[in-house]
Amino acid sequence: MQGCLFCKIGKGEISSQKIYEDAHSFAFLDINPCALGHIMVIPKIHSETILDLPNKEIEPFFSAVKKVAAMIHKALNPDGFTMGINHGSVSGQTIEHLHFHIIPRWKGDKGGSIHSVVHNPPKERLEEIAKKIRNLL
Ligand code: AMP
Ligand code: ZN
Repeated sequence: MQGCLFCKIGKGEISSQKIYEDAHSFAFLDINPCALGHIMVIPKIHSETILDLPNKEIEPFFSAVKKVAAMIHKALNPDGFTMGINHGSVSGQTIEHLHFHIIPRWKGDKGGSIHSVVHNPPKERLEEIAKKIRNLL
C-alpha cells in the first residue's frame, strides 16, 4: 500500500536490519528493541491484521515466524520468547501493516508474561462466552 512504512521495508525501499526474506515474508530488527534480538516478521503483501491476511499467505507467514525464531534461538540462545501481535490501535498497534513480534527472553529480564498485558476479566460465565463464539461457526 502506498505510503505504508512496512510495505516499503518489505520491498527494500527503506533500509532495515534485515534478518530473513523469502517470497512472502520479511524479517528485520525492531528499531526500538524491547530486548536483544527483538525482531519483527511481516508479510510482504499489505494486510493490516491477521484477519485481513489472505488464507494462502497464512502458512508462509507462520513458517517464516518459525524459521526466524529458530535463527534467534541458535544465534542468541535465549531462555525463551514472548511472541505476538498488537492487533488494532487499542492493543498498541502503531503501524497498520501486520507485524509479528519475536522478543527473546532471559531469566531475570524483569519482563512479564502475556497475562500481564491486560487485566480485564469478563463478568460472563465461561460457558456463555464459549457458546457465543462457537455459535458463529
Ligand atoms: P506495534 O506497536 O506493534 O505497532 O509495533 C511497531 C514497531 O515498529 C515498534 O516496536 C517500533 O519500534 C517498530 N518500528 C517503527 N519504525 C521502524 C523502522 N523503520 N524499522 C524498524 N522498526 C520500526
Ligand atoms: Zn503495508
